[in-house]
Amino acid sequence: TQACLDEIEKADALGAFVHKTPEIALKQAAAADARIQGGAENPMCGIPLGIKDLFCTQGVPSQAASNILDGFKPEYESTVTTQLWQAGSVMLGKLNMDEFAMGSSNETSTYGDAVNPWRRGNEETALTPGGSSGGSASAVAADLCLAATGTDTGGSIRQPAAFTGITGLKPTYGRVSRWGIIAFASSLDQAGPMTKSVRDAAIMLGAMAGHDPKDSTSADLPVPDFEAAITGDIRGKKIGIPKEYRIDGTPAEIEKLWSLGAEMLRDAGAEIVDISLPHTKYALPTYYVIAPAEASSNLARYDGVRFGRRAKLAQGDGITEMYEKTRAEGFGAEVQRRVMIGTYVLSAGFYDAYYNRARKVRALIKRDFDQVFEAGVDAILTPATPSAAFGLGEMTDADPVQMYLNDVFTVTVNLAGLPGISVPAGLDGKGLPLGLQLIGRPWEEGDLLNIAGSLE
Ligand code: GLN
Repeated sequence: TQACLDEIEKADALGAFVHKTPEIALKQAAAADARIQGGAENPMCGIPLGIKDLFCTQGVPSQAASNILDGFKPEYESTVTTQLWQAGSVMLGKLNMDEFAMGSSNETSTYGDAVNPWRRGNEETALTPGGSSGGSASAVAADLCLAATGTDTGGSIRQPAAFTGITGLKPTYGRVSRWGIIAFASSLDQAGPMTKSVRDAAIMLGAMAGHDPKDSTSADLPVPDFEAAITGDIRGKKIGIPKEYRIDGTPAEIEKLWSLGAEMLRDAGAEIVDISLPHTKYALPTYYVIAPAEASSNLARYDGVRFGRRAKLAQGDGITEMYEKTRAEGFGAEVQRRVMIGTYVLSAGFYDAYYNRARKVRALIKRDFDQVFEAGVDAILTPATPSAAFGLGEMTDADPVQMYLNDVFTVTVNLAGLPGISVPAGLDGKGLPLGLQLIGRPWEEGDLLNIAGSLE
């Protein structure tokens, strides 16, 4: 813990930690030492972690990287972090992210950018660690912590993991409680581990997962021993390669890595089969209707009364002016864009044309996966991202849709509620990490982690 705290002090330029909690960390570390001396065997005991700012941590600022939650210190602790502290883990502080987890580059944060510790060849250009869990990815990649929590609504664990050369797992929807995690799109959000290895992801998921009566969508299923599932034996596993994920403009290096990944799995005894997920092309537009719709509803609670900040009001301002001024200055541009899109697609005249249609297409996307798994496929191999990490500022002036295209390989997994993992798979010509994604059957994270281990 002390070594991590020292590294964090030296790494302010990365913008990864936005609230440091050294007093809490040292207290928890001392308690963990005592537990370990007393014979505690929990593998998460004493492990120093960074926590994404989206998780409510009692008495510690939890702002979702938004100005509107400036000054908000929750009275309660999220279920995920409660379980991690019960296991004996240590909180080093809160990590940077895109505002309300909306973004793919960590550039929508009210705290400023998080920076990728990797560089493109000899270039000075600062690169994005990805988003929205950009601070988590940067902190783990730069050895500021041993692991971090992330959340993934459309790729926010897997894309930053791929951009920084670490492992990121989005569990099956319902595997991990959402209670106390600031909501973005409730039917898509899932928390998961961001770690240095597949084995670490298995261990940390074990501590994060489990049924929680406080989250009605959390599944009442036993938590298996995910680490024990990593046997290294993947003989006879059937791995699907979906043809719809071959998209124009994907760099040749990523295509090559994808084939290499398939070869590695074949060499380890898996069978590689071509599959089709025909509704893939509708996933991105479907996601960008459903996620903003849910966000516009979830973010209605930030009204200047209940949480965080309230705008300064002028003489004679009423409640309407208070809402308007607070939300106008509290939310950044991307969040405002999502609230506007969401409100529009949910409005009486357009509900059927957009929101209801998106829900129907979502069901078809899920059915594509169901059919492939019913046909005996154990996991699906795809690239994690359509490119390596890009430069900070390089995409912000472009059309927002350019940024949304980053999620093309990851959003399908959230729409279908499946587990997905990104593992570091190699470097591009400029020496930047690239990730491969494996998508698993629902509730089969153990199997998924086992197969992912063969790609390391
Ligand atoms: N980049 C996607 C978005 O902006 C996904 C974000 C996430 O998974 N939280 O919505």
